[in-house]
Amino acid sequence: MIQLPAVAKKVFYPCKKCETDRYQVVTAHTSATGARLECEVCKTKNTFKLEEPKTTRARSTVPKKGSASTRAAAHVARWTELRDKTEGKPTPYTMKSAFEVGSVVQHPKFGVGFVVQITGQSIHVIFEDAERSLVHNRT
Ligand SMILES: [Zn+2]
Repeated sequence: MIQLPAVAKKVFYPCKKCETDRYQVVTAHTSATGARLECEVCKTKNTFKLEEPKTTRARSTVPKKGSASTRAAAHVARWTELRDKTEGKPTPYTMKSAFEVGSVVQHPKFGVGFVVQITGQSIHVIFEDAERSLVHNRT
């Protein structure tokens, strides 16, 4: 962070009377970014202004809360938890089979999943990569 030079300190700064850079004594701070200066040569009072710091937007590499990667990690954690507490062999998934909450499904494409919810002919299955809705009990 850029700070004002301390009072009584000398800074090399343009003097409006000398019309050139002079060593000037800081006599007072007038604001967070301003100070009064006194030219060493002509004793003229000048105003010192801090340059606005260049706004280089720091690109944060910290993933924001709720980012895709965070959600994915949470999902895998959920899947792992279900796998660890679910017993029983996976049932190969076909849309004609009837599943219930807690069923373990072996899907040819998505792998092993756990049925967490059933609405009508839809089963909501947590697969390792995502949660999916599949049809079941279709006759
Ligand atoms: Zn001067």
